Amino acid sequence: MGENPFPFSDDNRRYHAYSYALKHRYGGRVARVPLDGGFTCPNRDGTKGAGGCAFCSGRGSGDQIPDGLTGLAAQYAAGIETLKKWPDARYIPYFQSFSGTYAPVSRLRALYDGALALPGAVGLAVATRADCVTEEIAGLLAEYAARTDLTVELGLQTARDDTNAALNRCETFAEFSAGFARLKARGIPVWVHLINGLPGETRADMVDSARTVAALGADGVKLHALHVLRGTPLAAHPPVFQTMEDYVQTVCDQLEVLPPRTVIGRLTGDGPADALVGPDWTRRKRAVLNAIDRELARRNSWQGRKWTENG
Ligand code: SF4
Repeated sequence: MGENPFPFSDDNRRYHAYSYALKHRYGGRVARVPLDGGFTCPNRDGTKGAGGCAFCSGRGSGDQIPDGLTGLAAQYAAGIETLKKWPDARYIPYFQSFSGTYAPVSRLRALYDGALALPGAVGLAVATRADCVTEEIAGLLAEYAARTDLTVELGLQTARDDTNAALNRCETFAEFSAGFARLKARGIPVWVHLINGLPGETRADMVDSARTVAALGADGVKLHALHVLRGTPLAAHPPVFQTMEDYVQTVCDQLEVLPPRTVIGRLTGDGPADALVGPDWTRRKRAVLNAIDRELARRNSWQGRKWTENG
């Protein structure tokens, strides 16, 4: 299988892991701490849709945040408690739940400033929908990008409008692209989320979505398998799940078409274990990551091997 030829790695990984990027930027342990800023989203409050995306748990992706903790400081302390294995770590407060830019600018300022004032905070991450990035919000985010290590994460899930429409995402690719462009025009680092195994999609569709994200110039990508969670609309009629083998092949194909510099924020997700309808293999996160490493080595391939500047 030979030496690892991938430049952004100092272990056996053949992709640009976020942990590698953080280590080389900060020279020590840095971890994200998920926070719930009390946001909602336009796909839940009736502005664009109601009931939310078909895969979304009622917590808007904030399932890792302990229940019942309302203040940022309390959530942050609880999050750090789970990272005790790294006593000298620094942290990036991460507004993960719902749409982290969906509020008046004055409230966003108060939340972001509050997060940056938390002890040990060295940056800020904000997850949101691209259609919640107006010119005014992009201007605000540019201010934070100038003063700290800011990353904005946008959910896309798939570049196919028909799949997103069937999932009640209530956002077209054109709307996504407009919000993405507003951020990039101001030099703000943007990551994009994709979900593999959405109903009706082939592996070719999923690789096409990765290619689209590469062409847009995303600074980072998060990939994960569709998790069907109890209580979500998808749980009523779960789709045929991807097998772990198919998922691993898909992710390796996607990594091959992403530029080497793109940071890989995630290659497998963790939904709440007690609410998971399937696929069951997603519980074995370490096994999935190891299988991806093995498959890239077997192919003697790496992130960006099939990427070219012109697509
Ligand atoms: S996934 Fe995001 S956009 Fe969709 S309903 Fe949940 S919080 Fe709203």
